[in-house]
Amino acid sequence: MSISHSIAPYYKVMIERDSCKKCKRCTTHCSYGALSYNGERIIADNSKCVACQRCVIMCPAGAIHIIKNESFLPPHGNYTRRIRNAIWAQSGNGGVLLSAAGNDREIRSIFDDLLLDACQVTNPSIDPLRETIETKIFFGRKPSKIDFKRDTMNPNKICLKTEFMPNFEVDMPIMVGHMSLGSISYNAAMAIYQACKELNILAGSGEGGLHPDFYEFGSNIITEVASGRFGVDINYLHNAAGIEIKIGQGAKPGHGGHLPGEKVNSLISQTRMIPKGSDALSPYPHHDVYSIEDLAQLIAALKEATRYKVPIGVKIAAVHNSAPIAVGIVRGGADFLTLDGFRGGTGAAPRIIRDHAGIPIELAIAAVDERLRKENLRDEITLVAGGSIRYSADLIKAIALGADVAMCSMPVLIAMGCRVCQQCFRGLCSWGIATQQEYLVKRLDVDVARNRIINLFHSWNEELKEVLGAMGIDSVESLRSNRDRLRYIGPNPKIAEILGVKHAGE
Ligand code: SF4
Ligand code: SF4
Repeated sequence: MSISHSIAPYYKVMIERDSCKKCKRCTTHCSYGALSYNGERIIADNSKCVACQRCVIMCPAGAIHIIKNESFLPPHGNYTRRIRNAIWAQSGNGGVLLSAAGNDREIRSIFDDLLLDACQVTNPSIDPLRETIETKIFFGRKPSKIDFKRDTMNPNKICLKTEFMPNFEVDMPIMVGHMSLGSISYNAAMAIYQACKELNILAGSGEGGLHPDFYEFGSNIITEVASGRFGVDINYLHNAAGIEIKIGQGAKPGHGGHLPGEKVNSLISQTRMIPKGSDALSPYPHHDVYSIEDLAQLIAALKEATRYKVPIGVKIAAVHNSAPIAVGIVRGGADFLTLDGFRGGTGAAPRIIRDHAGIPIELAIAAVDERLRKENLRDEITLVAGGSIRYSADLIKAIALGADVAMCSMPVLIAMGCRVCQQCFRGLCSWGIATQQEYLVKRLDVDVARNRIINLFHSWNEELKEVLGAMGIDSVESLRSNRDRLRYIGPNPKIAEILGVKHAGE
């Protein structure tokens, strides 16, 4: 690239020369090569800095500051810096821009425009410190009604006639989203699975197979069958609490997956069952699924393969026609449905898809819940919703809108140390999370990361209980689809109408 077309860096690394001890620690910790030592002092190459903060935290002298380099461009409300930088980058490299860690456009969050109701005089609240508030849920298909019959051996005895589909119990309505081994490191995956087992909640395996070391956590893992079928064999299917057919994901609706060959080391090659160094490409569609009937056959095949012992679900990206698709999926025999909204994160996604395709999860949850109710199908499926569940307030509102379980990934990465630098696709994560480089993976202490995830979700669950208590609800299952306990304060009445939520004051 010629000098006249180079892009001024986003960040500026400032080093306090008087404080610097010249220990060179920052140069070894910067995995992006932004810092070096020239024999006299530390030199910063601002163009390589991604503001991951590793050097700032590791500097024993507190001598490093990363600031935003924003003074060089004349302001323009339409041709923003982001748009100009994209044009410069593409006119230089001629390629599709990649990014990671979720849609970062400044689009108003609908969750932020929703307020929760609270009890006052006529309907007493519940004190969660003194009374039990249940946050446990049962994951899987429920019967729409329960029938009884007389016991054939003893006609005086009444027994259950309805056959229950496989369900399992989780202690919190929270699930860690699907992040494959490959997109995240072994240590990050280990920390997540250990935390989920300890909390008795669920984690997704992603589409990269399940390393045998993780089989012991299988009763807390939903494994994925994606279009690439990576790592799918009978052991994989039999070592899972549930199996999810991945049709789409929120970060890149209508898109497949791509793990570059350089990330496919022996560990990943063994887990994905592909040759070392080969690109792991998932086709955009499943080449055996072109209709709901095809999908129903795949669901049936997986149920058969797992002897009807585990729930089988389907994941779709939240798009404008999610509701009729959801009906087809339930009628096709799925036991759970995962809806992934357009703010969802991933290790690598074309920016054009990530930022512009799909719909917000809030609208998709409400539309799907409403449609399933109308078709009398709602109780037949567990609805998992993800795509920017940032904190407990989002989780609670997602459930009130109609989800059974809220799924999130970024908060888990952040709890482990991620600084949201959005460079996951480069495999150089300086915090040892989104990388396969051994020297970087070692930086993530599994025990510390696990405990931080446990603490995070424990806090969310306590906050969930606080809110349920304030609403006078003693079980999270009674909050589900309870949209009357939400009020809208945003600017767009059409959104309130689609959500089925009244405006504040109504
Ligand atoms: S880590 Fe801090 S003290 Fe050490 S060389 Fe870098 S800037 Fe100087
Ligand atoms: S996981 Fe690592 S590379 Fe990805 S956003 Fe977080 S800190 Fe950056």
